[in-house]
Amino acid sequence: MRMLMNNLDPEVAERPDDLVVYGGSGRAARSWAAFDAIVRALRELENDETLLVQSGKPVGIFRTHADAPRVLIANSNLVPHWGNWDEFRRLEALGLTMYGQMTAGSWIYIGSQGIVQGTYETFAEAARQHFGGTLKGKFILTAGLGGMGGAQPLAVTMNEGVCLAVEPDVTRIQRRLDTRYCDEIASTLDEALDQVREACSQGQPLSIGLLGNAAEIYPELVRRGIIPDMVTDQTSAHDALNGYIPAGLSMEEAAELRARDPQEYIKRSMNSMVLHVQAMLEMQRQGAVVFDYGNNLRGQALAAGEQHALDFPGFVPAYIRPLFCEGKGPFRWVALSGDPEDIYRTDEALLNLFPENESLKRWITLAQQKIQFQGLPARICWLGYGERDKAGLLFNDLVAKGIVRAPIVIGRDHLDSGSVASPYRETESMKDGSDAIADWPLLNALVNTASGATWVSLHHGGGVGIGYSMHAGQVIVADGTPEAAQRLSRVLTNDPGMGVIRHVDAGYDEAIDCAQEKGVKIPML
Ligand code: NAD
Repeated sequence: MRMLMNNLDPEVAERPDDLVVYGGSGRAARSWAAFDAIVRALRELENDETLLVQSGKPVGIFRTHADAPRVLIANSNLVPHWGNWDEFRRLEALGLTMYGQMTAGSWIYIGSQGIVQGTYETFAEAARQHFGGTLKGKFILTAGLGGMGGAQPLAVTMNEGVCLAVEPDVTRIQRRLDTRYCDEIASTLDEALDQVREACSQGQPLSIGLLGNAAEIYPELVRRGIIPDMVTDQTSAHDALNGYIPAGLSMEEAAELRARDPQEYIKRSMNSMVLHVQAMLEMQRQGAVVFDYGNNLRGQALAAGEQHALDFPGFVPAYIRPLFCEGKGPFRWVALSGDPEDIYRTDEALLNLFPENESLKRWITLAQQKIQFQGLPARICWLGYGERDKAGLLFNDLVAKGIVRAPIVIGRDHLDSGSVASPYRETESMKDGSDAIADWPLLNALVNTASGATWVSLHHGGGVGIGYSMHAGQVIVADGTPEAAQRLSRVLTNDPGMGVIRHVDAGYDEAIDCAQEKGVKIPML
């Protein structure tokens, strides 16, 4: 219940009054009446009962057992033949479903801090592959300063680079300034470029939010012959109606057109995405490192007629897959006490648990200096198979001994190693061509349920939009009891284990080595 409420905390959610948490229209509950009913049900729920939530609405409570999940959630799922935005929106308008995104509808969103390490690791890996390990003196162009995209400027400056982030909504830029994710705001391109040039020439990290539209600014940069070192984008392109602002419209004009003529709005959005992608393709031709940042911008441009849209890669095959092979992904935890000291205590305990892990040490130190808490204090760090279970048991022990003041909630993004099928993102260009096989997220939800996670969710359409992905989430509470220790040990082994077996099955050597080294049982290996 606290995590549901935390998702909608005004410091955490992008539009809490509309129940929208992040990612365009990703909601925590279907309606305020449904929210109230979920809260009532959770308050009354017995320790051997399970609440069922269907796309943000509580629909039943069954007697299960103490080790079973307390909540099971299914969001936005449609029979594949009907899995498209038109049908989804028709059903949504009838009040029958909601868009759950990934962690919005599964109550483990923790604000931009939840993504910032993934974004940091992505830029760090890109820096290693292309620029000798640092973004110092490099000009990184991106767009979208929303819930997830807002992590980009900070992730770039943490890698010592200079970030220009194009965003048409001044309130979003202001929010990133207020939370110190972004350093400066510029209202004209000339002003922004002056700042970029100066910071690059001095090798000074700097991030600038430029008030503007990517579908106008990116092509304008090409016209001027200004080619950044690296280019990406995190507008909510996956949702052409609610997530993307077409070129030529102010925020007010966009809102008016969206309400008056949604079809015309979608047409303009899709055409703008073609211009946006064409500029990125041209920058790539002229030497920039260009990648898609998991918002289906390429898929949308392809659907709108740009045949070359997929000529630049997605970030997962380019930078993240080797981590997925070892079950590594965005592990996160939250202090239910609300006391930041509890997170600092977990930080310290974790560093003592993995003293040899230098990158963990660097990350936790940076995070403590640079990342402001939003809502309940939380931390994120990428841990893999054989690490997450140890961390979970450690936190349970801290709760049991009273070293932290209240239970710790442990979860992860659905963007994880073995929990998602998404051919334009997490499972793009799999070695064996299994990109669209969606059995894996289903098995993930089933094994987490069988292992005793506290809540388990199964979604469709997160990240890249309806029709393009299936994914599962799990959250488990460390309440300090021996029973919780048993559950933690099972769930936090089996959940990342799914990532290992999924990549073994696809033939990745890194995953095979990991499975053999760590003794993951795989019948046909
Ligand atoms: P959000 O809806 O909170 O923010 C999107 C932002 O893009 C808004 O601020 C909006 O004003 C801006 N925008 C819209 N049209 C624009 C345009 N034409 N030019 C410039 N800016 C524009 O969404 P979010 O939570 O930040 O997520 C952004 C996208 O990234 C989504 O598609 C999401 O699915 C995807 N995503 C990626 C990752 C990842 O790890 N790469 C993780 C989660 C989500």
